[in-house]
Amino acid sequence: MKFAPFSYACPTEAAEAVRLCAEAAGAGLGARFIAGGQSLLPALAFRLDQPGTLIDIGRIGALRGVTLHEGRLVIGALTTHATLERDPLIARHAPMLAHAAGFIAHAAIRNRGTIGGSICNADPAAELPAVVVALGARLHLLGPAGARAIEARRFFRGYYETAKAAEELLTSIEIPIAAAADRWAFGELARRRGDYALAGVAVAATGAPRIVWFGVGDGPRRDGAAEAALAAGAPAAEIAQAALAGIEVASDHTTDAETRARIARVVLRRALTGAGLAA
Ligand SMILES: Cc1cc2nc3c(=O)[nH]c(=O)nc-3n(C[C@H](O)[C@H](O)[C@H](O)COP(=O)(O)OP(=O)(O)OC[C@H]3O[C@@H](n4cnc5c(N)ncnc54)[C@H](O)[C@@H]3O)c2cc1C
Repeated sequence: MKFAPFSYACPTEAAEAVRLCAEAAGAGLGARFIAGGQSLLPALAFRLDQPGTLIDIGRIGALRGVTLHEGRLVIGALTTHATLERDPLIARHAPMLAHAAGFIAHAAIRNRGTIGGSICNADPAAELPAVVVALGARLHLLGPAGARAIEARRFFRGYYETAKAAEELLTSIEIPIAAAADRWAFGELARRRGDYALAGVAVAATGAPRIVWFGVGDGPRRDGAAEAALAAGAPAAEIAQAALAGIEVASDHTTDAETRARIARVVLRRALTGAGLAA
């Protein structure tokens, strides 16, 4: 299919992008920010989404770059998945993020897709939303009323649904830097390398552990029962058995809920033993 007609703007400042978005919304046109376009363009091509205005944020320099600031890693929303994989600051201070980015799609998509786009798109099977929740990230938003920050764990609301207002722009992602002794695990199972995961898990195991599923339910979900079992030093098989209590496991045309739960438990057990977090 062809795209429905839309008008196009390409601002160079974040505040201008927000103003243009609010103006389009006020005029009843509907507007979307476009970053890498790797999720939005297919949606437009299939006419699953028909905004009147596209606001291309790709030329806003302030949304790029990876820096250290007051003991935290600050990642611009336009940072591509490929950069996450290779950036030395990310490798050193948020290694799970670098590792997980390599599981997203294929190289051509990782060259264009951005961390901000992945987080705002909130696909329940996406890797990065789960990783930023596991790492205790804080997300910085800019809207017509000004800037605000929100904890990643409060941002994801359900299938493709977030706490972000339509006119708000995600500007950066702030992550507490990892110490050399910090431990983590990551695992997923997909039909083919690069496909969205049938089930996956991100684990940050320093201090009180965070175990966060993706591809399992309606978004990144922490697993309190599995976290308690890991904190108590249980073996991996027991942690996997305790997992998913109270979590609604999704069923779709490829994988029913029971099969997905079984896959998820295997993924968790392997991730924990592979990383040496549980016996
Ligand atoms: C074949 C294929 C396979 C894929 N496989 C995977 C996979 O395995 N795992 C995975 O996680 N992803 C996968 N993706 C999606 C890919 O990771 C995208 O890069 C990502 O989901 C969106 O990033 P983007 O920069 O392309 O965002 P866009 O497509 O430009 O935007 C996505 C949405 O986010 C909004 N948005 C973007 N940036 C901002 C911002 N800074 N502030 C506010 N709103 C914003 C847009 O308005 C839009 O609604 C795949 C895509 C394709 C085409």
